[in-house]
Amino acid sequence: MKTKKVKAAGRFNARYGRSVRLKITEIESIQRKKQNCIFCNKVAKRVSKGIWYCKGCNKKFASHTYYLPKKEEVNLNNPKNNK
Ligand SMILES: [Zn+2]
Repeated sequence: MKTKKVKAAGRFNARYGRSVRLKITEIESIQRKKQNCIFCNKVAKRVSKGIWYCKGCNKKFASHTYYLPKKEEVNLNNPKNNK
């Protein structure tokens, strides 16, 4: 049930502690929005933890566990990524 304090995480009742429930509302609110493919910006689906599939470019790729980062955040030319 939805609660005032922890919103959708109210379904856990008094379990797991306040901070954990607050964190899950934060993640789930992003997760529920449509996630866009980091290659073609079309809607991608989460297959499993960190595994995503995009119908647009027919790619299966690994990314963030619960949601996809915005395209601006993924800098493929970042020297940090080319170790
Ligand atoms: Zn794509």
